[in-house]
Amino acid sequence: MLFAQRVRALLDQMSLAGVDTVLLSVGADLPYLTGYEATPLERLTMLVVDATGSTLIVPELEAPRVEPGEFEIVAWKETTNPLDIVAKMCPPYSSIAVGDQTWSVFLIGLFDRLPKARFRSATPLLRPLRARKDATEIGLLSAAAAAVDRVSARLPAVRFQGRRECEVAREVTDMMIEEGHDQGQFWIVASGPNSASPHHEPSDRIIEAGDVVVVDFGGRQAGYCSDTTRTFVIDQPTAEQIRVHATVVEAQQQALAACRPGATAESIDDVARRVIEEAGFGEYFIHRTGHGIGLETHEHPYLVEGNNEILEPGMCFSIEPGIYLPGRFGVRIEDIVVMTESGGRPLNNSDRSLRVVS
Ligand code: ZN
Ligand code: ZN
Ligand code: ZN
Repeated sequence: MLFAQRVRALLDQMSLAGVDTVLLSVGADLPYLTGYEATPLERLTMLVVDATGSTLIVPELEAPRVEPGEFEIVAWKETTNPLDIVAKMCPPYSSIAVGDQTWSVFLIGLFDRLPKARFRSATPLLRPLRARKDATEIGLLSAAAAAVDRVSARLPAVRFQGRRECEVAREVTDMMIEEGHDQGQFWIVASGPNSASPHHEPSDRIIEAGDVVVVDFGGRQAGYCSDTTRTFVIDQPTAEQIRVHATVVEAQQQALAACRPGATAESIDDVARRVIEEAGFGEYFIHRTGHGIGLETHEHPYLVEGNNEILEPGMCFSIEPGIYLPGRFGVRIEDIVVMTESGGRPLNNSDRSLRVVS
C-alpha cells in the first residue's frame, strides 16, 4: 500500500521528466519503493519500473528473501545473464534513469546492450520523494533517535578513564543493540587531541583525566538510521573547554531556532557558523552543519553553503556544529531534527550539557 503509493509518485515524476524506465539496484531507493534491499553482490538485483508496472530481477538464490509486494519477481538462474533480461524490458530508444549506486559493471553492460537509449541519474526523480518523510518514516526515525538517546543517557555510567577508545566504542555499539537497534553503523569515541578529528577512528589511545571525549554514534533500526553526538569531559573541564562547548551548544540551538519551513538549507548552516565565528572559532568549524537522514545516514538535504534548497515539512536532517582545535581538543553536538509546519523539532533530546564522566 505504502510502497504502491511511492511507486505511483515516482511514475508521476517520471512522466514529468520524460523518463520511460527507472532501474534501481543497490542503495536505498530500492528498499524505499519495495521494502527489499539488494545484496551488494556481483550477481545483479535490479528493479525495473515503467508505466506497465514494477519488476524485481533477482538472483534465484536470493529470491526467497524477497517479501512479495506489488511488483513482479523474476528470479534468474546462474547460467543466464540478468542484463539481457533487463535490456529486453527497455525499448531501444528509451530514456532510462539509473540509481546512483548501481555498479558500473552493470551500467556499462547496459550501455552495450542499449546503444540507442539515453541514460541519466534517477536521483532527481527519487530525491524529492525521499527527502520529505511520511508519518511512518518519521515514526521510525523517532524510534531510532529515542534508542540512541537512551544510550546517551547511559554514557555517564560508563567508565572512560584508563580505558582504550576502542573498548568504550565497543560498549557503545553493544548498547545500541540493547536499546533496540538492529545494527550499529558507526561509533566514534575520540578522546583528548583525537577529538579534534571529526571522523576519528576509535584507537588504542588510553583515555585520561582532563580529556574531552566526543562520542558520535548511530545505526539502523527497522531500516531507518540514527546519528547523535555528545561531548564529555573526564574529571574537571577547563574554562576554555567550557567556553568552546557553550559556543557549540549556542550555535546548535540558534540553528534549530532558525529552522522554519521556507528557510534554505544554507541559511541554517550560516546561522550556526555565524555564532561560532563571532566567538572567534570560525576557522575551526571545518564541516557543513548537517545532512539529511532516513534510509541512509547521509542523504539529501545537506545543510551547507551553496545549497539554496528550501526546507519543507517532513524533511529530517542533522544539526551538528563543531569546533576542532588541532592537536588539542574538539567539541561536537548533534541532533536529528524533523521539519514541521511550525519549525524544527529535535528527535534527539538527551542532555546536551558538558557532562563530567570518570
Ligand atoms: Zn560525520
Ligand atoms: Zn551526522
Ligand atoms: Zn554523527
